[in-house]
This record gives sequence, structure tokens and C-alpha cells, in this order.
Amino acid sequence: MGSGEGSAFPGLDAPRLRAFICRMAFTAPRYAAPSPPPGPERRGVVVVGGGLVGLTLALDLAQRGVAVTLLDDDDTVSTGSRAICFAKRTLEIYGRLGLGPRMLAKGVTWRKGRVFHGAHEAYAFDLLPEEGHEYPAFINLQQYYAEAWLVEACAAAGVDLRWRHKVSAVHPQAAGVELAITTQGGDYALHADWLLACDGARSFVRESLNLPFTGQVFRDRFLIADVVIKGDVAFPTERWFWFDPPFHPGQSVLLHKQPDNVWRIDFQLGWDADPEVERQPDRVIPRVQAMLGPDLPFDLEWVSVYTFRCRRLEKFRHGRVIFAGDSAHQVSPFGARGGNGGVQDADNLAWKLAAVLNGTAPESLLDSYDAERIAAADENILHSTRSTDFITPKGKAAQAYRDAVLDLAAQHPFARSLVNSGRLSRPAILAGSPLNGPDAGQGGAVPGSPLPDAPLRRDGQPDWLLRQAKGQEMLLVCAPPGPPPLPGLPTLFLSPEEAPHAAHDHAGLARLRLGLPPGGAALVRPDQHVAARFAWPDPVAIQAARARLWGRA
Ligand SMILES: Cc1cc2nc3c(=O)[nH]c(=O)nc-3n(C[C@H](O)[C@H](O)[C@H](O)COP(=O)(O)OP(=O)(O)OC[C@H]3O[C@@H](n4cnc5c(N)ncnc54)[C@H](O)[C@@H]3O)c2cc1C
Repeated sequence: MGSGEGSAFPGLDAPRLRAFICRMAFTAPRYAAPSPPPGPERRGVVVVGGGLVGLTLALDLAQRGVAVTLLDDDDTVSTGSRAICFAKRTLEIYGRLGLGPRMLAKGVTWRKGRVFHGAHEAYAFDLLPEEGHEYPAFINLQQYYAEAWLVEACAAAGVDLRWRHKVSAVHPQAAGVELAITTQGGDYALHADWLLACDGARSFVRESLNLPFTGQVFRDRFLIADVVIKGDVAFPTERWFWFDPPFHPGQSVLLHKQPDNVWRIDFQLGWDADPEVERQPDRVIPRVQAMLGPDLPFDLEWVSVYTFRCRRLEKFRHGRVIFAGDSAHQVSPFGARGGNGGVQDADNLAWKLAAVLNGTAPESLLDSYDAERIAAADENILHSTRSTDFITPKGKAAQAYRDAVLDLAAQHPFARSLVNSGRLSRPAILAGSPLNGPDAGQGGAVPGSPLPDAPLRRDGQPDWLLRQAKGQEMLLVCAPPGPPPLPGLPTLFLSPEEAPHAAHDHAGLARLRLGLPPGGAALVRPDQHVAARFAWPDPVAIQAARARLWGRA
């Protein structure tokens, strides 16, 4: 999503840099590189790239019974300053995949933000003002933790993990892709029936297919410093964003708390800043001291200087090659939409490809991945571009507008909606999806929305609505009697009354958030999005919506 300029510390050679990283609370694992096979191989599904998105996709596919080979040119997880803000929808996806509780336990939960202009607070916001959700609006968690846990989960699910197996040539064919793989033990040829390109912003697969990756480069630079603060910190666990603060005049600054007492600070530098000079510790330390005060001891954990781009591929599916994550689209970090968007790509693609491979759906279902995720990427790019334009105004008129909006925001709520310090990642609502069926709901989760969470009770024990949607298609019916059982369609009754084993919608929030009348029903997709809403569970209408959902209509 962004382009880091060189290594974090140019003065450190690789072994010293590794030693430096090892001083972090997190020790980067080193994964064994398997020997190359003795001759050419054939595999059904090959994922290229063991980053956040490739690992998530491989895990989801493996949990759906698909045999997956994952190739990565490295032997560890991502290091340094990358994603920290994991949004509610991402946590819900990881909840389905079994990693949500671990992320929640380690991550720093937050939902409130403050925006400052100069020395004063302009306003504060709350991203999840309502109760009754299992996961919070956001947690902050270093990307390397998420990746390390994904690797463990992939290994447990039987993913064939091949570290230091670099894809060095890609030749698409009608029924698959011929790959050349380079390893330290020699090269080999690998035929993939399906190639899932999750090889990041500089995607080799994308370049090999000569696909244009078009968009905008922002003429600004940002210094990203991860610092370990050793004393008591006056900052609460909130997102703080400053426009033109006294300690960094004329620029912006963003502060986030991460686990292990690490704080992420982003300093806007301007386009003319020299990245080599700016990431030297003797330049960084005074900037941090000016912000935190001279007496608060801290260590620099990681420093890098970034420029940002917003761009995407025209299409994500190219026959048997499908792109996901940063290889398909890039955004600026303001809004935390890169990794969160990529995880939603994986969530969207896994069930569709699994259904095509097991014969439940025709291959054309995969075209809906393009339709749905391109719309989502465009939404992310739009918000990310607007945020970046607001944070780095182009010209005097834009600067004057921004300052006026910030001045007004302190007193006038209407102006707060115009302040844009990063519209934070929201789940894509796939409103225009070709898979959506009829909608007889009112308000609430329209077809295409992720299923909203809500508290339930079962036999007096607390439970959650989203936990009921475990990755399969299902029908939610707001109160019995409901339809006769439909083949292959698990049905859950949301009971307004307490009854043995019933999913008791004790607060009425499940029905309210679904936007359904008593007795109404919702068809839920395997990726937990709502596919259709019915005033009553009419079996004929439900079967028609199912046919559409699986690309058979
Ligand atoms: C400073 C910064 C802050 C960010 N903050 C956030 C945030 O708060 N929230 C958020 O959601 N996102 C954030 N992002 C974005 C997020 O980090 C990325 O969107 C995410 O890493 C994309 O994951 P990916 O798996 O698509 O790509 P990557 O993580 O880049 O993984 C690609 C993988 O492919 C491998 N690979 C590459 N080429 C080959 C090859 N030829 N053969 C085999 N393997 C190959 C690489 O080794 C790598 O492991 C941030 C990014 C930056 C830079």
C-alpha cells in the first residue's frame, strides 16, 4: 500500500538489523524452507505470498477442505511498521477462522479518537457508540503477530507451506498456470490449476502478466516511528490526530498505542524531505521528544519513511489467476483500509473458489469476486484519497479550506463531518452485487451487508449472532414456525422467548439489526454477508435466492 524507502535503518547491515529487531518484545520466527521436489509438480490451488492476505486466504480455503500450496520468497513474517489497526469486520472474519479471541486478547482495543488543531482539541469521535457486539470497532495489533498466528493456523489446517520458494516465472494457460519456482536447493516447475496472487504491492505475478496498475501517487512523505515508551504515558488508548501541532508545526501527526507498550507515531514531513536524512535516529529522536516531552524515556523500535499510492488493477480475475490484497489494490494508510480490505478479499474469494472446486457452483461464480471486490476497492480508494487530500492539501485554497473547517469543527458539529483525518475502515456493503436476492426488510442489514452481530442467549448462556454463521450458507428466521427444512440449508430460529436450546434474541437486537418483521427471514452467505431478506420464509423465494447466490440462476 505504501512504498517504504530503503531499509528502516540504513546504517545497520543485515545481521545487526536482525539483532536490533530481536530486541523487540516479538521475536520474528524463522520457518524452515522445504527442499524442492525432484521433478515438475502439479497442484490444484497455489497461493503466492505468505503475507496477511495470502495466509488468510490459504487458511479459509484449507478450513473448507481445499488442498492449498502456499509459496513465499521469505522465511518469516513481516517486520517493522506495517498494519496495526484491525477493524471490527476483520476481527469477525478471524473469529470465524478461529483466531479472533487471540487477537482480541493481545490487541489494544479502541473505539474513540480525538482530532486536534494547533494546540487545541477540535473534536472527539466514537466509532462504535452502541453495545451488543462481540468485537470492538478496532484493535491495534502489530501485523507480525497476526501473520505468525496465521502461519500456525495454516500449518494446523494442513496448508503446504513452502518458505523461500520464490515464483520466478508465470505462464498462464487455458486450464491453469505454469510457474517456475526458485529455491536455494534448485529450481522446479509447478503447474497450478488456480493461482491466487497475494504477492503484495510490487506483485511479480502482476508484472509478469503485464497488467497496468493505475492510480495516484501522493507527493508527500511520512516518517513512521514505532517507539517503546518506558514510563507512564498520559495518552489514553485512543487514536489521536493533530493538524499543525505546536511540536510539529505546519504538518500532521498521528498517534496509536500498540501491544507491548509500543506507540506508533506518524509524522508528516512534506515532499521535499530527504528520506535518508529523516530516518536517522538523531533526526527522529528530537521529533519524538518534542511531542512526548524531554523527560519521558523511550526506545526507537522501528523507523521508516513512506510515500503513498492509491491504485488498483482494472480486473482482479484473469482467467485462472486471481489477485487479492495489495497485489490488486493499494491505498494510503489513513483509514487502515489496506490490510482490512485485503482480508475481506480473502473472505469473499475463499468460499466461491471452494464451491467451484467441489462442484457446488459454476466457474462463473468467480466473476462476482471481481464485481464485489472491485466496488469495495473503489470505495476504499475514494475514502483514502479524500483523507490524503485533506491531510496534505494541494495549494493555498485547499489549505485555507482545511484550516477553516478545522476552526469551525471546535464549535459547530456540522463542520466535523468535513474534517477528514482518515475515514476509518468500514466493511464493504456489496449493495450492487449480482448475488443479492430480494429485499423485504426495513432498515437494518440490506442484502450485501455483513451480518450484523447481536447478543443472544442459549440455555441462559451468553452467545452471539455472528458465531452462528460458521462459514456455511444459512437461513435466519425471526421466530418459528418457519419453513419446512430445505435441503442443505441450516436454519436458525431467533426466538423472542426463552426455550431449551433456542437462540434467544433476548434484547430483540438481532431482529432489529437485521431489519426484519416478526417471522421474517434472511439468507446468509458463507462469508457472513446477507444475501436476501424475506417478509416470511417462502420456500420458493428462498430457493430462487439460493440459486442466484450460488451463480446457478
Ligand atoms: C506503514 C504502513 C501502515 C499500515 N497500516 C495499516 C493498518 O493500520 N491497517 C491495515 O489494514 N493496513 C495497513 N497497512 C497495509 C497493510 O500492511 C497491507 O495492506 C497488507 O500487508 C497487505 O497484505 P498482502 O498479503 O496483500 O501483501 P504483503 O503483506 O506485502 O505480502 C506479500 C507477500 O508476498 C511475498 N512475495 C512477494 N513476491 C513473491 C514471489 N515472487 N514469490 C513468492 N512470494 C512472494 C512477500 O514475501 C510477502 O510475504 C499499512 C501499511 C504500511 C506500509
